Amino acid sequence: MDALFEAQFSPLANTGRVLSKCGKCLRYMKYISSQPSRLYCGTCEEVYFLPQKGTIKLYKELTCPLDNFELLIFSMAGPEGKSFPLCPYCYNNPPFEGVDTLFDAARTSGSNKLGKGAGMPCFLCPHPSCRHSVIAQGVCACPECSGTLVLDPVSAPKWRLYCNMCSCLVLLPHGAHRIATTRERCPDCDSTIIEVDFNKNSTPLEDGATLHVGCILCDDLLHSLVEVKHGKSFFKRAGRARRRGAGRNAFRGRGRGFGKELDPKMSFLYF
Ligand SMILES: [Zn+2]
Ligand SMILES: [Zn+2]
Ligand SMILES: [Zn+2]
Ligand SMILES: [Zn+2]
Ligand SMILES: [Zn+2]
Repeated sequence: MDALFEAQFSPLANTGRVLSKCGKCLRYMKYISSQPSRLYCGTCEEVYFLPQKGTIKLYKELTCPLDNFELLIFSMAGPEGKSFPLCPYCYNNPPFEGVDTLFDAARTSGSNKLGKGAGMPCFLCPHPSCRHSVIAQGVCACPECSGTLVLDPVSAPKWRLYCNMCSCLVLLPHGAHRIATTRERCPDCDSTIIEVDFNKNSTPLEDGATLHVGCILCDDLLHSLVEVKHGKSFFKRAGRARRRGAGRNAFRGRGRGFGKELDPKMSFLYF
């Protein structure tokens, strides 16, 4: 198997374009776009498979805090395609227990076997000290599945949240200058408090103020500015919560709590 692997990949040293730095040798690795697309470090002679069928580019020269590999942004095709960061090393070597869902696993092998492009992007990374992880970038529980709505870090100016499990998409205030997660949690619903820096020409705040901090489910202003593209019950439940002043707890917890209420018909949304 090893020999086959080597024979298949040995010409790689001469192909592909330079993309990102290896965290082990700190030299640049090459991106091989032919299927299955992958990164190759010629110094370490290591291959790192990538998510398939999308575009990949460097993510602001940010590095993974766990292994020093430069992060990449993968964008799926189409206007509603997710964009998400990934670390080439962590993607191929999910380092944590409890990661039982891998991106693209169902389509490639029907199980969580690695090697054909399935892996762990940052939106599935549960590491508490990684600021690109689902812990840091997750905002609230997905209303449609047991996943977590995560901030799309490169969606400006069409800021949005996407579910890390299904196709639920939530549009955030359009044209905002900057939207970021904070380390604060909402005391009512446990969602991550987000910080919105509105465009000064279109800010809904009084006196031309642009900075607003709040929970997208409980803050009336933010909630009035978000729009759900897929996943109707986000509005239905949130609306009910506002009218009765109760029910907010339905959103309690990130990445959990919705599984049991799931309509079986919604399971087609899973990857
Ligand atoms: Zn290397
Ligand atoms: Zn990593
Ligand atoms: Zn991470
Ligand atoms: Zn979902
Ligand atoms: Zn809240």
